[in-house]
Amino acid sequence: SGLKMYFPITTGFLRRKIGDVKAVDDISFTIREGETLGLVGESGCGKSTCGRAVLRLYDPTAGSISIAGQDVTQATPGALRRLRPLMQMVFQDPQASLNPRMTVADIIGEPLIEHARLTRDERTARIYELMDQVGLNRDFANRYPHEFSGGQRQRIGIARALALNPRFIVCDEPIAALDVSIQAQVVNLLEELQDRLGLTYLFISHDLSMVRHIADRVAVMYLGKIVELAARDDLYLRPMHPYTQALLSAVPEPDPDAEAQRRHVILKGDVPSPANPPKGCNFSTRCPRVMPICREIEPAFLEERPGQSVACHLYTMTAEPTAAEATAPA
Ligand code: SF4
Ligand code: MG
Repeated sequence: SGLKMYFPITTGFLRRKIGDVKAVDDISFTIREGETLGLVGESGCGKSTCGRAVLRLYDPTAGSISIAGQDVTQATPGALRRLRPLMQMVFQDPQASLNPRMTVADIIGEPLIEHARLTRDERTARIYELMDQVGLNRDFANRYPHEFSGGQRQRIGIARALALNPRFIVCDEPIAALDVSIQAQVVNLLEELQDRLGLTYLFISHDLSMVRHIADRVAVMYLGKIVELAARDDLYLRPMHPYTQALLSAVPEPDPDAEAQRRHVILKGDVPSPANPPKGCNFSTRCPRVMPICREIEPAFLEERPGQSVACHLYTMTAEPTAAEATAPA
């Protein structure tokens, strides 16, 4: 909670610090055991940074991360090392994340050498078991990544991620680099493995249709902040945040009656630089419903309907204005 990831920006030969890019700015969420939390937003909004922060691949600037009730923000290197196997990542581009000079068996078996005390035979047996689980033919064990299609390479990446029996997997755009015809197969495999192994997923994607298919709950990110978080159907059928509404209006609606009812929102302007986010609500430069208060005061992220949290002044206006709001220049 309160997670912040600021990256210092440096410029010129002196590497003078000129500011902080707020890649992830004060966001809080919980991922429930066994669920898939979808994390959506346009590229550059901080989704991947958020996923990596959750896995403690970066040290957060501020805030805390708890896994299974254990605060891992201040964890010692030894404690982190014990936690590492429980948390894994599946990457967007299997081509880039697989060592081209290693065989499939060596790639899948590499985490076992580092973290598990197995004999050579036990390790081979485990590698075959993992290949079976992801639907890779055992005959491929001694081949190299370039001999495979994108979908098969992603299966190799998934098998490696599963090697140490993780509980939690961050899937960062796991299908974005694949042919459309292959995407559903990989998503189905991830769902099957979740059921069979009791996995919890953070599923990062810009593909709102795919997230609707796989996620139990969905968080929407804009410019380093989560602006809305809700159960899947609540978010897709009754989006509250103007940004969520705009994003979803660009996605085809399968039900033609619902499609006819829809208003298509075209957002004007570009996403502002994370190095210089707007004052107040960070969506205020593009929001079709912007009000004077939005340019002054940042809206709090509040549960406005049961299980549906949103950061937007539209939903706080009926309440008594707070002291800060009452004195805000309009
Ligand atoms: Fe739009 Fe204001 Fe809500 Fe921000 S707070 S999303 S600018 S209405
Ligand atoms: Mg990304």
